[in-house]
Amino acid sequence: MYSLQDKDKLACSKIVATGKLLTEKHLVAGSWGNISCKIGESIYAVTPSGKGYTSLTDEDIVIIDQQCDTVWGRHVPSSESKLHVAVYSAYPEAQAIIHTHSIYASALAAMRKPIPPIIEDIVQIIGGSVNCAEYALPGTQQLAANAVSALAGRKAVLLANHGAVCWGKSLEDALIVAEVLEKAAQIAVICQSCGGAVELPADDVAVMHEFYNKHYSKRQMGEEG
Ligand code: 13P
Ligand code: ZN
Repeated sequence: MYSLQDKDKLACSKIVATGKLLTEKHLVAGSWGNISCKIGESIYAVTPSGKGYTSLTDEDIVIIDQQCDTVWGRHVPSSESKLHVAVYSAYPEAQAIIHTHSIYASALAAMRKPIPPIIEDIVQIIGGSVNCAEYALPGTQQLAANAVSALAGRKAVLLANHGAVCWGKSLEDALIVAEVLEKAAQIAVICQSCGGAVELPADDVAVMHEFYNKHYSKRQMGEEG
């Protein structure tokens, strides 16, 4: 059995707080969606499966290993644990993952369309369009593999007919990605229903993405300025 250290308890309480924010911001509904944090080498804290965020407590969070086996906790870990572990394995920079079922991202995912590079903040974060992964059943290794492949070096991806997955260098970072992603998806849907948007030039997208990585994201995290 894993023995929880103070830093792990802090991670659990941050996950619980983030769950409440996801509900308030309408990025999830009910118990759907899930959140995790990397708390050590091949050790992750993840939300329990099928438990609503509003009543979640720190002790409800589950600690899993690389095989998605529970090493601490009283509940079944998220049914998307394989997805979370696959993203951590493919993206060593990822320290936190948020899987949302937000409305506009899910609408584009249902159409199996990407979020095009049409608005400044999301292209800063993503550096291009947010891809939609090939369809697979929820909770499967195939879903995890499809998501990792469609992430293609980016911090977010849509899951066909399902929702979105966002990763960050911290939970705060992952939450920013999830919020900006949903806003961008809403703008894309509005534009598509009103005749279509003009895409940003690829060179400008690259400039904005570099500025975000080198400076703006650091300002957000209090590491610059
Ligand atoms: P869990 O409640 O098991 O985390 O699953 C919710 C979900 O979003 C499945 O894709
Ligand atoms: Zn889901």
